[in-house]
Amino acid sequence: MATHPGPLTAAPPAIRTSRLVRRFGEREVLREIDLTVGAGEFTALLGRSGSGKSTLLRALSGLDHGVRGSGELAVPERVSLSFQDSRLLPWLRVLDNVVLGLGGRRAEDRGREALAEVGLAGRERSWPHELSGGEQQRAALARALVREPELLLADEPFGALDALTRIKMHGLLRELYERHRPAVLLVTHDVDEAVELADRVLVLEEGRIAVDLAVDLPTPRSRRAPRFQEYRDRL
Ligand code: ADP
Ligand code: MG
Repeated sequence: MATHPGPLTAAPPAIRTSRLVRRFGEREVLREIDLTVGAGEFTALLGRSGSGKSTLLRALSGLDHGVRGSGELAVPERVSLSFQDSRLLPWLRVLDNVVLGLGGRRAEDRGREALAEVGLAGRERSWPHELSGGEQQRAALARALVREPELLLADEPFGALDALTRIKMHGLLRELYERHRPAVLLVTHDVDEAVELADRVLVLEEGRIAVDLAVDLPTPRSRRAPRFQEYRDRL
């Protein structure tokens, strides 16, 4: 198992769990997971379907009260969670989805800025169903960003998109990351996506983190580059 050198900054970690356990009945889906993700670190989480990736994300979001073990998590207000289906509320216009729950006079302005940042300027008054799948994911990203999260938890956000749209979203996500520097934990089942986007790749297997690999490549990254392949082979 490759070990990760750990966070480079002195800032407190965005995630720290100690022996985190999640059982469903007799089944132990997460088995004493010790995980530290540094502030501003971009980490991908790989694993077979059913390996517990979504369960781990939910545990880290603080929404799951059935978790045992200790976890020091970023304050919930500063955690954003996004999903494969963007989960925009169909009865709210795009801008209202983005700023939902935000208070203050400037909320709408910030929402507009966030939409512009993801390439959706002019779509503020659209309904979610009027957007394509990729546009809905952009709106979901804007909704996450406008909250200025310290930690962005993303559960297969591009899983439902076509290949071309997915490539565009990769570029956008990495660009937004470079600009805002939240810690990111991105769940994916796509090895290429993990190596392309993240600086650290974890593999969840039988409820444990079986691989913890630091990816030391400049971005943007090409999948055809020999060093990209080198990391791919190690997963
Ligand atoms: P992944 O996201 O890696 O595909 P999940 O975290 O969704 O996997 O699920 C891991 C395992 O936990 C699966 O076997 C799933 O059936 C089980 N599981 C997840 N949520 C629940 C639940 N609420 N109740 C019972 N079993 C669950
Ligand atoms: Mg899942």
